Amino acid sequence: SLALATPTAIAAALGTSTKQGVLIKSGEAVEKLSRINAVAFDKTGTLTEGRISVESVKAFGIEEDRLKALLYAAEKYSEHPIAKAITAYCEGVEQLKAESTKSLVGTGVEAVIDGKVIRVEKWNSSLGGEADEALKEGKTVIGVTEDEKLVGLLTLSDTVRDESKFAVKELNDMGVMTVMLTGDNETVAKTVGESLGINKIYGALMPDQKLEKIEELKKNRRKVVMVGDGVNDAPALALADASIAMGAFGADLAVETADVALMNNDIKKVPSLLKLARRTLKKIKLNIAIAMCINFAAVLLSLFGILNPVWGALIHNVSSVLVVTNSALLLKHNM
Ligand code: AMP
Repeated sequence: SLALATPTAIAAALGTSTKQGVLIKSGEAVEKLSRINAVAFDKTGTLTEGRISVESVKAFGIEEDRLKALLYAAEKYSEHPIAKAITAYCEGVEQLKAESTKSLVGTGVEAVIDGKVIRVEKWNSSLGGEADEALKEGKTVIGVTEDEKLVGLLTLSDTVRDESKFAVKELNDMGVMTVMLTGDNETVAKTVGESLGINKIYGALMPDQKLEKIEELKKNRRKVVMVGDGVNDAPALALADASIAMGAFGADLAVETADVALMNNDIKKVPSLLKLARRTLKKIKLNIAIAMCINFAAVLLSLFGILNPVWGALIHNVSSVLVVTNSALLLKHNM
């Protein structure tokens, strides 16, 4: 029964979570998750659906069709949900060939098209104040520049997942600190974070600054799990004490390396996952106690001749059955 105490509980936890669309990669992950007291969320694609759609496009000094063609060529190779939304919106435009494209870490993309440098990146103060209203409404605003001259302005909206509010509330009720780390503008970060009830909101972060925030939390004695899709948050996922990747949309590498993959992107499984991990650790401790107590008592009783070998064998097996039954109760855990 002592040998069964840990593996049966872990197997039950992995089995029940997998059936409910949460892929925990190892027993070690369950142990790490049981100690978590802070959850850091990425925003785009994690707290929000990542099914971003372009709401408006404004061209300055060039034809709108030309702007769309530039956008399509620049964003074609980016994996970011924003890039996917932009290319979907611009589908069917004239095909321009980009001489080169590169991603601007945490801010957007840059491409050279017809010898001009095209940047598609998050709105910043140097681009002007036209976008203030949209930013206040929590919309993502992207500026397009051609050789540093503003030629386009896009607003995109992303729906906050229905489950996000529930997940954040559950975590807060469990006494787990909730944190949002996003590269998006501070105004957007605040609007979305506050509407969800997140404890600490950090916006305008580059991927390495997300890493610093995780380090800061760890220094403050927090055991942090990072929940993200692997786009611009892969280093933070790697540094956190444990990591949860959005399975259905997440970048392949993140899904492969994270401790847990949420196969249906169901964010409300995060609090139940932490509960399952805590329950599993408690079960393991109880199993060890059952095994030790029964076996110790049986050894003592047989030492004094009270227990004969047949009863000894029976009791030994009873303790094994108890441990396995106790672990099997985890199979009923509803996530
Ligand atoms: P993230 O760290 O993934 O939240 O990205 C931060 C911000 O950078 C986004 O909110 C966008 O404003 C901008 N951004 C990132 N990738 C792209 C892209 N491929 N095209 C345009 N803007 C982007």
